[in-house]
Order: sequence, then C-alpha cells, then structure tokens
Amino acid sequence: MSHIVSVLRFGWRYLSRYQTRLVCGVLLSVLFALANGSFVWAARTLAERFAEKPAAIGSLAAGGGGGPAAARPSLMAQAREFSHEITRKVDPWLPRVGQPLDWRQVAGVLLFLPMLVLVRSTADYLSNYCMGWVAERVIRDVRLDVMDKLSSLSLDFFSRSTSGDLLTRINVDSANLLRALRQGAADLLKEPFTLVVVLVYLCIRDWQLTLGTAVLLPLCLFPLLVLGKKARRAMKSSLRANISQSSQLVELLGGIRIIKAYNLEKEEMARFRRTSSNLVHAGMKSVQAKELTNPLIEVISMFGLSLLLFYVFSSGRTGADMAEFLAGIAMLFLPVKKLAAVHIVFQQAHVGTERLIEILNEQPTVVEAAAPKPVHGFRDAIRFEEVTFAYRDEPVLREFSLVIPRGHRLGIAGESGSGKTTVLNLLFRFYDPTRGAVRLDGLDLREISLRDLRQQLALVSQDVVLFDQTVAENIACGKPGASREEIEAAAQAAYAHGFILELEHGYETRLGERGVRLSGGQKQRIAIARAFVRDAPILVLDEATASLDSYAEAEVQAAIDRLAERRTVICVAHRLSTLASMDRIIVLARGQLAEEGTFEELLRRDGLFARMSRSQGILPET
Ligand code: ADP
Repeated sequence: MSHIVSVLRFGWRYLSRYQTRLVCGVLLSVLFALANGSFVWAARTLAERFAEKPAAIGSLAAGGGGGPAAARPSLMAQAREFSHEITRKVDPWLPRVGQPLDWRQVAGVLLFLPMLVLVRSTADYLSNYCMGWVAERVIRDVRLDVMDKLSSLSLDFFSRSTSGDLLTRINVDSANLLRALRQGAADLLKEPFTLVVVLVYLCIRDWQLTLGTAVLLPLCLFPLLVLGKKARRAMKSSLRANISQSSQLVELLGGIRIIKAYNLEKEEMARFRRTSSNLVHAGMKSVQAKELTNPLIEVISMFGLSLLLFYVFSSGRTGADMAEFLAGIAMLFLPVKKLAAVHIVFQQAHVGTERLIEILNEQPTVVEAAAPKPVHGFRDAIRFEEVTFAYRDEPVLREFSLVIPRGHRLGIAGESGSGKTTVLNLLFRFYDPTRGAVRLDGLDLREISLRDLRQQLALVSQDVVLFDQTVAENIACGKPGASREEIEAAAQAAYAHGFILELEHGYETRLGERGVRLSGGQKQRIAIARAFVRDAPILVLDEATASLDSYAEAEVQAAIDRLAERRTVICVAHRLSTLASMDRIIVLARGQLAEEGTFEELLRRDGLFARMSRSQGILPET
C-alpha cells in the first residue's frame, strides 16, 4: 500500500489542479459500482422468474440469515425493503415461466440487461475518460517541471549525471507514472466502490453466506505481496538497462564519426545487444509477476465458489439464491483482479516516482540573488579577488587574482588542466568560488542577476552548438528578437553572408542536428555571427580556432578580429600563436598565476610560456 500512497502523494500536487474532472471521475466511479451491484440483483431477479410461483419476497430476509437476521438493525431491514420494492416495481416488466407474455414483458426481457450494461459501460467509459484526461495533463505538468528544474540546475549537476539517466527519467519514469495514473488511478477509484457496493448488497441479502464466501478474499493479498515485490525488482533492473541503453544511444549518435573511423560498429552493436537482453530479461520478470497474479486470484476465487456450492446444497437454498451469490462472487473477484493489476502498476511507477522526486528536489548550487543589484552595461573592470575554487576536494584555482580593465585584450595560456576553462566558468558564474570573489564593475557576481551578467558576455568556443533550426534562427539566438537586418549584418561581419547565400534556402536553410551540412570553419563563423548579433561588451574566446585547419583558421581569425574590435576580450588558447595580438597574457600553472606579460615579453623571459612556445615551433628549440 505504501507505494500507492507515495505515488499518489507525489501525484496529488498535480492531480489537485484538475479537481473538477477528478470529482466527476469519482462520481462516475460510484455510478459504475452501483451498476455492478445491480448485476447481482439482476441475476437473482432473472433466476426467480424461472419459478412458476413467485417466491415470497423477502424469504431470505426472514429466514436466510437465521435468527440473527431478524435482530439486525432496522437500517438493514430498510435496505432490504428498498430492494424488494424495486423487485416489485420491475415485476410486471419481466416474464415468468408458465405465464403468457404481454407487450411490457417482451420489452422488459429484451431491454433489461442491455439497459444495465449501458449504464455500466457509459459510467466506465466516462470515468476512464476523466481519469485519462487528468493523467495526460499531470504527466505534461511533471515533464514541464522536470525540464524547468533541469534548466535551472547548475553545471555541477550535469557533470554528475549521465544523459541516458536524465533521458530515462523524463521519458520512461514519467511514462510509468502516466500508466499508473491513467489506468491504475481509474481502477483504484472504481473497483473499491464496486467491492463495497457488492459486499454491502450481499450482506443485506444474507450476511452469513457473504462472510462465508468472502473469507477467501484476504488470501488474495498473499500472491499480491510476493508478486508486487518481484515486479518492483524487475522494474528496477529494467530501468538500469534502459539507462545504459539510452546513454549508449547518446554516445553513439554523438560519436558516430569516431565509431566509424575506428571500426567500432561491431563492439557498439554487441554492447547494445547485451543491454537489450537485460531489458528482455527484466521485461519477462515483470510479465511473470503481472500475468501470474490473475490466475492465482482465479484459483482462490474458485475455492470461494466451491464453498458457496457446498453451503447452498447443505442448507437447502433456492436456485435464485445460488444465481445471486454466483454473480456476487464474480463481481467481487473481478475488482480484486483489477486491483491486483493496479498494485503491480503502482509498484512499477513507484520506482520512477522516486527518481523524479530526486530531480525535483535538486537545488541549484549557483543561486540567484534575492534582490539583484542592477547592472548598467560594462564600464570599468572585471576582477578576480583571491579566488579559490574546487570542483570536488582538490582546489583547481588557488588564491587567484586578476584584473581585466574595460577594452583590454587578455590572453590566458597554460598547460592542459591548469585551470584556464575554470577561470571562464567562474566568470560566467557557472560555478561560484569556494573563497574570494569575482566582480564586475565592483559588484560581486553573486549580487547581480544571472541574466544581467550573461547579457554582458558573448562566448565563442571550440564546440559549436548549432540548433535544429534555420541559419537565421541559429544566429538570432544570440539576441532573441533580432531583426532580419541585424542577422544579416552580423553574418556579413562574421564573413558568413557569402556562404549562407550559397546554401539551398539561404538564411532559411535548416541546419539539422549538429549542423552536419557545414564545414568546421563555416559553423564557427555562424557562431561568431551569433556573438556579433549579441553585441555584448565582453567577448570570451575559448579555444575558438583550436579544431580548425590553418586555412579555415585564417578565415575565422579574421572574423574574430573584427568581432574583437572595441570590445573587452578574454581569449583562452592552447595554440599560442593565436595570442600574439593580445595586450597581455597570463600563464596559469596548477591554478595559480605563473607568468604575466605581452607575447614578446613572455617569449624573452624564457619561462613556462617560452617552453610551451618552443614545443609548438614558435620559438626555435635550444
Ligand atoms: P584547462 O582548461 O586549463 O585545461 P580546466 O579548467 O578545464 O583546465 O580544468 C582544471 C582541473 O579541473 C583539471 O584537473 C580538471 O580535471 C578539473 N575539472 C575540470 N572540470 C571539472 C568538473 N566538471 N568536475 C571535476 N573536475 C573538473
């Protein structure tokens, strides 16, 4: 039960938004239950019509329950009287064996069962419709919340998580929740009502006989508990397999060139086959758990039936009593079977719900200031003041200080792993310093809004991300709402206008996932156009030309030089020749400032920078 409660508790904050439909669902479920109860009564009423003489109405009431029935509280007697009243009302509408038929009886016998089924089926459909309506919207809301949370989380969360895991949470976990809510919650409403209505009805007819036949109901719990656990274990291992399969798919799509270049297709296929087999294995375990429940419950219900037969024969009951209780048993065990399936579905959904709650409870480590101070452009300088920073335990920057005045061009060099990208990460406030502060015009970055901060910055990095949109849209995302003139002017400035016009649909050409149709240099020039259109005062270049050949590099460098005019530039480069035009270069070593000066000064100093220059052929080897 606890898993049903916890799934519903999680779902409630969403379900409660759609209360009107939910209330409709509940009311229709009550109607459905009453229609089910009416079938038990109908079975008895029809069976009685086969007796030539009408049974003394209320025979069971008087004698069936024995002595205690007579002493039942008057509520019971009233209910019984109500049921007899209805039976008396339908009496002229139903035929009786051995008596001639009149038109009312013909109409009655033809319409009696269809009318009951019509009520039941309509209530069933409408209550399922209401619950489906609510469940679909709940899942949309859950997915929106998860996406919203994901976009608000800081980079540290993403470096801890795998894409496969996140994809599985958004797709598989929420789909399981949808199944539980759509199918499970509808049954969870309808079936218990049916159980109660049928049990109450049977108790009114003969409470001893009812207790005798229902004594086996609790036995159904046993297979449910065992099989429910099994289903949950299966769901956990199925999720594990799903996660690794999704991760693998993400890797495969992202690394398809390397996979092909290294002939890794077979290995990838073998890995995929392994995870697929794990999925089949887990899937079969849940099939077993699910499909075993109903047969077990059916066997138990047959024992209930045998008990009933034994009791009816040994106590000399009528055929009508028998028909009524047979229908009663069928109507009791049907909801039990449905509820058993609900139990399994909720066990499975519970695993996913826990994982969705985990994400929704994550808190961003980079927190927006409650009352951010306003930023009016970039006027003075960026300052790193004794910044110490660690991604985990080991500090990556140690008491690092730096001033970048407005209009300055700063190069950052250093061995790989020395902390260059980390400096940029702190400037963009992807992370906060462990100690010290980064300031923009004297304001601690933690005091201003992330939006205002990033408005001042334009990033051009080695990894160009082109979205699955048109060229124009890809450029415009530098400045949402940019006009066509601005977009084209930016493309012209980035030396991209020419090749864009040569594309099949010019600016309207869709770039497709990862912009595969463009060369590396072209992609980079689109990224530069994006930075142009943004027109931010600070330009950050992160190895922007590192992956280009020398011809493309020359083209891109020309675009960058133009972009850098009249802006403050921070340029991280492994290829040191790129830094020749910088006003000043700092050299990092193990997260600290090792050297500082102009390109020429650093070459002359014969330190770390000169050593790196020698290895890149800028200075002759000594
Ligand atoms: P560089 O840009 O100079 O190559 P980085 O700033 O990327 O160096 O990295 C500095 C150090 O921080 C490296 O030792 C790297 O392993 C570590 N590092 C970088 N990013 C992360 C991260 N997300 N989580 C943990 N460690 C990281």
